[in-house]
Amino acid sequence: MVAARRRQGQTTRRPRGRGGGLEGPVWQARGVDEERERPPGSTAAGGPEAWAAPAGRPVLARSPGRVNLIGDHTDYNDGLALPMAIDLGTSVTFVPDGGDRVVVHSQGRAGPAEVDLEVGLDPHRLRTLEPAWARYVAAVVATVRPDHGGRGWVRSTLPAGAGLSSSAALEVALALALGLRGEPLSVARTCQRAEHAATGVPTGLMDQLTVTASRPGHALLVDFARLTTADVALPEHAEVVVVHSGEARTLEASAYAARRAECEAAARGLGPLGAVDATTAGAVTDPVLRRRARHVASECERVRAVAAAFGAGDLAAAGACMTESHRSLAEDFEVSTPTLDALVGWLVRRPGVLGARLTGAGFGGCVVALTEPGALDPAALPTPAWRVRAAGGARVAAVG
Ligand code: ADP
Ligand code: MG
Repeated sequence: MVAARRRQGQTTRRPRGRGGGLEGPVWQARGVDEERERPPGSTAAGGPEAWAAPAGRPVLARSPGRVNLIGDHTDYNDGLALPMAIDLGTSVTFVPDGGDRVVVHSQGRAGPAEVDLEVGLDPHRLRTLEPAWARYVAAVVATVRPDHGGRGWVRSTLPAGAGLSSSAALEVALALALGLRGEPLSVARTCQRAEHAATGVPTGLMDQLTVTASRPGHALLVDFARLTTADVALPEHAEVVVVHSGEARTLEASAYAARRAECEAAARGLGPLGAVDATTAGAVTDPVLRRRARHVASECERVRAVAAAFGAGDLAAAGACMTESHRSLAEDFEVSTPTLDALVGWLVRRPGVLGARLTGAGFGGCVVALTEPGALDPAALPTPAWRVRAAGGARVAAVG
């Protein structure tokens, strides 16, 4: 017996940011998709053959990953960030089968993830599930509460655990494939809840919001205090290159939760750090809390400066802010590593590289560089690297 269904996704609209972003629907019907995206067992005409009736219409949903251009550790401090969705992403095809389990396969991973429709959001139980990625699947099933079971297939072009939000892309694509509908902000919040339950890490809203609310060709200026967004056009001559440091990163094992607790301690005296100015932050007595507050205050200033520099086409100014952001993350927020520092140092000495910084919280993973056209050849770098373009947010398309 399936528990009473609670549809997520119908919340009050937030005020619009300049240029919008939160108001459009997250999904948009598109035509039948490419052959390669069809679930195994479906025919060219679209009907699933391999599973017993009653089978519903297969649904294909896609979510981009994201790279954060600037504004790290600001989301949970009611500050500002300027990420963009990227043209690497995750797709989920889901075929309802009328059963009471969701069974999901992910290309190249052990599995499948098998989840009862009745699964609860109990974090302690979720975190005992194996394979580990099944925790995300179970948490999404528990938050979306689909009416029916079925089988899903996941494919991704994103590196996992590298700071490009493969987890948010998986959550959002799966949630849409399972039937979640709503405004980007609402979908993002549902998937953020799932991420918290699956990992136990109190991550901010940036990843899920960026992969739901972004527009092609634009970065997304997010004000986390007001929960508004504005689209910021990327200058035509800007190139964004993401370089993997070669260092694995897991937020569970990182000091993410400790940093968040330190920010909360500083905010008890000052109010949300995203609204604090650099002078006030610099006057905090405790030296550790002072450095944390100084990073958040100065980072929000840099986010404003980069958005303005993009508007003015001043890529040199934007790049300088990014490199300064790395220094602040390394020295004041202490979330860098010697490998990330060395990579940023190496990148900014290349001709045509305008700035570089760690991205996606730090503790390993990727660095993002802003460059002149053709300055970095991803294929010539010793670690995996990608020239990424600003993509649109997550979408669902009926298949077959
Ligand atoms: P990031 O989101 O920066 O890639 P996270 O540590 O937040 O790093 O999330 C990575 C985790 O998300 C993986 O270890 C895996 O559990 C899950 N994940 C991401 N993409 C996939 C996928 N395509 N298939 C299965 N699990 C995935
Ligand atoms: Mg993640």
